Amino acid sequence: MKFTSTVIAFALAAAGTSDAFAPAVRSVPTFSSTTSLDASAGGRQPIMAGNWKMNPGTEQDAIDLSQALTKLLGDETCPIDDENPLCTEVVVFPPHPFIAKVGEEVADAGITIGAQSIYFEDKGAYTGSVSASMVLSLGCEYVLCGHSERRTLFDDDDQAINRKVLKVLTSGMKPILCIGESKAEYDLHIKNEVCAMQLSKDLANVTKEQMKDVVIAYEPVWAIGTGLVCAAEDANETHAFLRTILARMYDDDVAQETRIQYGGSVTPDSVDELMSMPEIDGCLVGGASLDAEKFGRIINFKTE
Ligand code: PEP
Repeated sequence: MKFTSTVIAFALAAAGTSDAFAPAVRSVPTFSSTTSLDASAGGRQPIMAGNWKMNPGTEQDAIDLSQALTKLLGDETCPIDDENPLCTEVVVFPPHPFIAKVGEEVADAGITIGAQSIYFEDKGAYTGSVSASMVLSLGCEYVLCGHSERRTLFDDDDQAINRKVLKVLTSGMKPILCIGESKAEYDLHIKNEVCAMQLSKDLANVTKEQMKDVVIAYEPVWAIGTGLVCAAEDANETHAFLRTILARMYDDDVAQETRIQYGGSVTPDSVDELMSMPEIDGCLVGGASLDAEKFGRIINFKTE
């Protein structure tokens, strides 16, 4: 067995070493995006993100998808409700070559742009890699870190992910840190231990102040691209558990203020129940984000 019950003790012990982090004061969230929907519990601004992965095939297809999405996010479909000022932040993560064009297309709709990955070094002989400054200069505000496809297909380990998270933060962008257990780990009932360990390692040396810019995406690997959605109550329970780990690593404020997305085969059919859960602050969406109608409906989730 790769993981044992000592893992959680390790993770919690590691978390306990973070007590020296300076206290941070979180400012009131800003509402830079177009959509208006129920705020999730704790006043956390909902955040919906579309991970396009290695899709679509051409720049023109990426422009078409962007235009189709922005057409669905006009004032009629997503009015900002003054009585409920917490609107939903929307981020799309196109492949690197399309970032600039897609960024131009979606800017007026208030959609934020992000990069699917970066390399943690600044520059140099790293053929095929892309630096934080490069994607920042294209307008990226977010970077995905630790996505399971990067972990498994490209061997990004926790140390590399941690370096990436730190580089994103020090470059003035925000990481969406993806964590989650594999099917084997789920079956072994060590989901919480795995997630605690990933949080502990991937957030090493991230300060309490920097945590204001960190979004966590809980993505059970067995649910990504499989059509299997984690039951909403189970995901909610895991999110609550992650907050207890954040409280151990930092404090209750960080635990309550950090936004935690769920990811894994989210569709228009599953989003409403997921988003009605108090601990779920948004979704990281892969396949369904390639269909403007579906992603538009996901962004326009309904919680009542
Ligand atoms: C993802 O890529 O993070 C993801 C959750 O994909 P999908 O929605 O297709 O499962």
